[in-house]
Amino acid sequence: MKVLKFGGTSLGDPQRIKNVSSLINQDSEQKIVVLSAMSQTTNSLLEICNYYEKGNPEAAHSYIKKLEKKYYGVIEELLSKKDSISRANEVIKEHIKFIRDFSAVPYDIKVEKAIVSRGEILSTNLIQLYHEEQNIPSVLLNSLDFMVINADGEPILPEIEKRLSAIMAQYKTNPLFIAQGFICLNPQGEIDNLKRGGSDYTASLIGAAVRSSIVEIWTDIDGVHNNDPRIVDNTQPIAMLTFDEAAELAYFGAKVLHPSTVLPAKLKNIPVVLKNTMNPDASGTYISNEESGTGIKAIAAKDNVVAVKVKSGRMLLAYGFLRKVFEIFEKYRTPIDMITTSEVAVSLTVDNDNYLAQIVDDLKILGKVHVDKFQTIICVVGNIVAEKQGYAIQVLEALENIPVRMISYGGSENNISILIETRYKEKALKNLHEHLF
Ligand code: ADP
Ligand code: ASP
Ligand code: MG
Repeated sequence: MKVLKFGGTSLGDPQRIKNVSSLINQDSEQKIVVLSAMSQTTNSLLEICNYYEKGNPEAAHSYIKKLEKKYYGVIEELLSKKDSISRANEVIKEHIKFIRDFSAVPYDIKVEKAIVSRGEILSTNLIQLYHEEQNIPSVLLNSLDFMVINADGEPILPEIEKRLSAIMAQYKTNPLFIAQGFICLNPQGEIDNLKRGGSDYTASLIGAAVRSSIVEIWTDIDGVHNNDPRIVDNTQPIAMLTFDEAAELAYFGAKVLHPSTVLPAKLKNIPVVLKNTMNPDASGTYISNEESGTGIKAIAAKDNVVAVKVKSGRMLLAYGFLRKVFEIFEKYRTPIDMITTSEVAVSLTVDNDNYLAQIVDDLKILGKVHVDKFQTIICVVGNIVAEKQGYAIQVLEALENIPVRMISYGGSENNISILIETRYKEKALKNLHEHLF
C-alpha cells in the first residue's frame, strides 16, 4: 500500500487534475491518495469567512459567486458525460449552499472551520467523478470518519488507525482510495483542521495508520531545496534527508512540508518522498532513517517569533529558577522553540503569542522581563557532529554583518539556530547560502 498526497498547485486546473489521475494510475499497487483543495481555494474560503466575520455578507456572497463560477468552469473541462456533469453540478450546488447559509449564523471559529473544509471536499469529489467517468475503480473516503484530533489539536494516531482499518476492511481488493487532506474532527465532533498546509500531515498520518510502504508528497517543486527558493536564487534539491533533519527543516520554516509531517512516518519508519508533479522523473527528496553523509545540508527560516528575556540577580546557582520559568509557559500551553541561558538571564522564543501578556505578567515575579517581537529563527540543518570542527564558525562568518540576538548550538546534531530581527532575514539567508554552498 502506498500513500500519495497532491498539493493545491498540482490540482490547479482541470488538466492538472487529469495529470494527477494518470500519475496515480501508473502501477497496480494499492493506494490511498490524499488531496488538498485546488490552489487558491482555501485562501478564497478564508476571504469569505473574513467578510462574514466583519458582518459584510454581501461581499461574502459576491466572493462565493466567483468561487461557484470557477468550479462550474472546472467541471466543464474535466468531465464530458452528461450524467457525471449533472452529479458534479449537484455537488457544487450543495457545498456552495452550505457556505452561503452561514450568512444567517453568528460568526465564530467553528464557522470558519466548517467553511474552509469545503476546499478538500470539493477537490476529492471532483476527481472521484472523473475516475468514475473514466471507469477507474476508485473509492472516495470521508476523512471526517477517521481523522480525529484531541483537545490540543493533536491527531490521535491509534484511534485513526482503528477507524481507518475498519473502513478499509470493507474494500479489501479495491486498488484506489481518495481522501481529503487537512480536515478532521475534534473531540466535540465538530469539523476542524490540521492547520495551513495540513494535507501533508494527513498523508503521513494515513501512511502510519495503514503501515504504507511509502508516503509520496507530490508538489510543485522537485523536492526539499537547500534554502527557500522564494527568497534565494540557485537553490538545489537535496537528494536525501534523515527524518530528524527533515523534521527540523519543516518545523523551522521550510514551507514545502507541514511542520509535523515527518513525525508519524518516523514513528513507523515509513520513508517520505517529495516529488514534483510537473517533473515526475526528477528524483526528488528521499526522507528516511538512512544517514547520508555529514555536513550542512539546508537552511530554513521561521518568522513571527517572539523573544522573551527574563533577567534575575542570580539564576544558575538559584536552583529551581528554570523550572519556575518553564512552568509559566506550560501553564499557558505555549511551546518554547529556542532557549539560551547565562548566570543572570534566560532568553526564550515562542511563535504562539496568544498568551504573551499573561506569560509576561507571571514572569515579572521572577525578574525583569524584556520582549522582542518581529524576530526570525534561521535554522541551519544537517548532520552537524560536534567532533567535526568548523560548522559554527562558517555560520557565524556568513552572518558577520547581521545583528544576532540568540544562538543555539549543540541541542541536537542536526541544527544550529540563530535568532535575528525579521528585517535581516533575506540578507541572512542569502549570505548563508553563498557561504555554505
Ligand atoms: P503544496 O500546495 O503542494 O502543498 P506548497 O506551496 O505548500 O505546495 O509548498 C511548495 C512550495 O514551498 C514551493 O513552491 C516553494 O516555493 C516553497 N518552499 C519554501 N521553502 C522550500 C524549500 N526549502 N524547498 C522547497 N520548497 C520550498
Ligand atoms: N488546503 C489547505 C491549505 O491551503 C491544506 C493544504 O493545502 O495542505 O492550507
Ligand atoms: Mg503545502
